[in-house]
Amino acid sequence: MRSLSLVLVLGLPLLAQGAAKPLKYYERHLQARMVPLLQEVLRFPTVQGDTKARDAQQAWLRKTGTELGLVVRDAGLVTEIELPGPKGAPVLGLVVHGDVQPVDPKAWTIPPFEAAVKDGKVLGRGAADDKGPLVQALLAMKALKETMPKRSYTLRLLVGSDEESDNLDIASYLKDHKAPDLSLVLDSGFPVIVGEKAWNALTVETGLGLSGSTERIVTSMSAGLAPSIVPDQAVLTLTGPTEATVRQAFIRIQARPLRSGTTISVAEPIQPVEVIGAPDSLQRWRGALKATGKSAHAGVNAEGGRNALVALANAVVDELPPGGARDLLAFAQLAGQDLVGTGLGLVQPDPVFGRATVVPTMLQAQKDGKVRLTINIRSTPALSGEALKAHLFAQVAAFNARTGAHLEPGGFFGDAPLAFDPKSKLVKHLLAAYTRATGVKAEPAISGGGTYAKRLPNAIAFGMWFPDKPYPGHDVDEQVPVADLHEGVKVLLEALVDLTGSRPLKDPFRP
Ligand SMILES: [Zn+2]
Repeated sequence: MRSLSLVLVLGLPLLAQGAAKPLKYYERHLQARMVPLLQEVLRFPTVQGDTKARDAQQAWLRKTGTELGLVVRDAGLVTEIELPGPKGAPVLGLVVHGDVQPVDPKAWTIPPFEAAVKDGKVLGRGAADDKGPLVQALLAMKALKETMPKRSYTLRLLVGSDEESDNLDIASYLKDHKAPDLSLVLDSGFPVIVGEKAWNALTVETGLGLSGSTERIVTSMSAGLAPSIVPDQAVLTLTGPTEATVRQAFIRIQARPLRSGTTISVAEPIQPVEVIGAPDSLQRWRGALKATGKSAHAGVNAEGGRNALVALANAVVDELPPGGARDLLAFAQLAGQDLVGTGLGLVQPDPVFGRATVVPTMLQAQKDGKVRLTINIRSTPALSGEALKAHLFAQVAAFNARTGAHLEPGGFFGDAPLAFDPKSKLVKHLLAAYTRATGVKAEPAISGGGTYAKRLPNAIAFGMWFPDKPYPGHDVDEQVPVADLHEGVKVLLEALVDLTGSRPLKDPFRP
């Protein structure tokens, strides 16, 4: 509890006043700027590797932050935008990222970087993840600057630039910058995230075994755009000795029942091809099938996706002769049997986190001619890290023993789940702020997505997506309702007025 007498002594706003003043200021003077500012920043295509877009966006941050009366500092991969508090005040960090997930423009019905506004929504890659929260934070800081002259914290917005890819920005920042004393990471959901699952990727790879086969064989396959996106496309090329063998296989495959929301169609009609290096130098016939589904964030919104890779595996696997392609698809089928990893033996629930989230996301040809299947696994404290790796490698070994496959396991298991005490002071304050702003009583949440909260000390994910709506980050046609952008500012202002309007919380992560 805050001390009322202290509040009065310092002349800080009274509890009952809450965020009314900054909110009123926001509505009168800033609300109209939300959409135009978001449109401006969405037009920088800050995908991995586009350093031109990153630099241009950082210049935009300098210009926009300065124009709002905030202090902007370059810190390499991170941009600091600050609303200073009293000299020597602790720092409350607001943390967002300015980079975005890749896009497949063919799958989008809108141009991903034009930032159109339609039916009360802002559309574009990054609208929700995480440029909406970036603009929300900027405007909330401006509202506090103009209406709340006395604050117990310096507010510092940290804007990262490679969260969706290398994820080295915060680590490099911390080498020569002190972390904020306390941070809210605005890159997940409301009301507050007390558990973040760990990010893992199990890969299995093998060759397709093309040499000398006279049967129907798979000559290539590919699926997915990134390890953290439910794949909405998967393509497989089938080659056979006659036109009829390929056509009949296509007919049987297309006749199979599919999970709802997925389709299988012919991507390339069956045509004669010369197979160079075939022992009999006979003509072969080749065609391609394409499975389609719906993309979604593989950690936060796996249930909102429709997995094209798993659909392809289910439809095709029985049509294939023994070999690498069949083994990879059979393993994808096993891993994708449900979204909680039953097929991989991940059946032990964690008491707070529940089950893991498991999504086969990619098939990629490797330089050495092998094909790699990537399975994105969001694990819980029940089984993570080296123990998870050992468990999964044993599952691959058992699969190989059972089927005669030669899948080679690999991947990444270096992340750990993050858990907070749901009864900690900070969590209670954030929940109360959420309830004051929205009128909705809420429970703390668990997320399948990882945020910067794992990379910064004393950091917790707070907003800015509202619960009970599928998260559109990482999805095609990413979009955010304008009304939710304003509502999110309201919640953020409630929390910031609470946290900075009185003495800093002591031991915020303890009850
Ligand atoms: Zn994000």
